[in-house]
Amino acid sequence: MTIPFTDLPLDHRILKALSVKGFENATEIQSLAIGHALLGKDLLASSKTGSGKTLAFLAPALHRVLKTKPLSRKDPRVLVLAPTRELAKQVFLQLKWLIAGQKISAALILGGENFNDQVKALKHSPQFVVGTAGRVADHVKGKSLYLNGLELLILDEADRMLDLGFADELKLIDHCADHRKRQTMMFSATLDSAELHYLTERMLKAPQRISVGQAN
Ligand code: ADP
Ligand code: MG
Repeated sequence: MTIPFTDLPLDHRILKALSVKGFENATEIQSLAIGHALLGKDLLASSKTGSGKTLAFLAPALHRVLKTKPLSRKDPRVLVLAPTRELAKQVFLQLKWLIAGQKISAALILGGENFNDQVKALKHSPQFVVGTAGRVADHVKGKSLYLNGLELLILDEADRMLDLGFADELKLIDHCADHRKRQTMMFSATLDSAELHYLTERMLKAPQRISVGQAN
């Protein structure tokens, strides 16, 4: 089932960007996840590759940034973690066209890149940070990134991050971003592994579970 994006209560600037891109209808995971995310619910979601999960979290995240006052002017409002440099870059590219022409700033924080350049980029207080878990955790430990004001924590491909050995980094990031103020969305191909269960118990508050079709 697909519905037009214009049926979702998203800010008109987001609807404009989607229409400029030529996207008219939300995929099923998008309509379900966006609806719940806009209500402020924590999410645990899965659907197959290529079903549009990136916009399912970026659209409600941007809506929140556009529509509400920040908790902090310095700290990022949204943090998206992805398992690999390539996946983080893909998320960042989608974010870039979604925020084109708006006063929204975003930083891409990848492992293997110059650390001090990233410190400088973080000093500019980007509202969105997208990155790989290891390097983001390094900045948290090094105090070049503070997560006290974080409003939305998004874990893309959480199961793969665990497979790649990022459990400790995810726990550290979770610990440094205040649970009471924060909404968390977790996307994963599988929702039932024991390791993921441990993480979801720890990081999510009464999450809405969404599973579309057969995840891969
Ligand atoms: P997933 O993370 O589920 O694997 P992506 O978010 O990477 O999927 O999206 C896959 C592709 O589909 C991307 O090229 C994206 O731009 C495109 N896409 C996403 N949502 C829509 C939509 N509603 N209409 C048309 N294309 C879309
Ligand atoms: Mg994806």
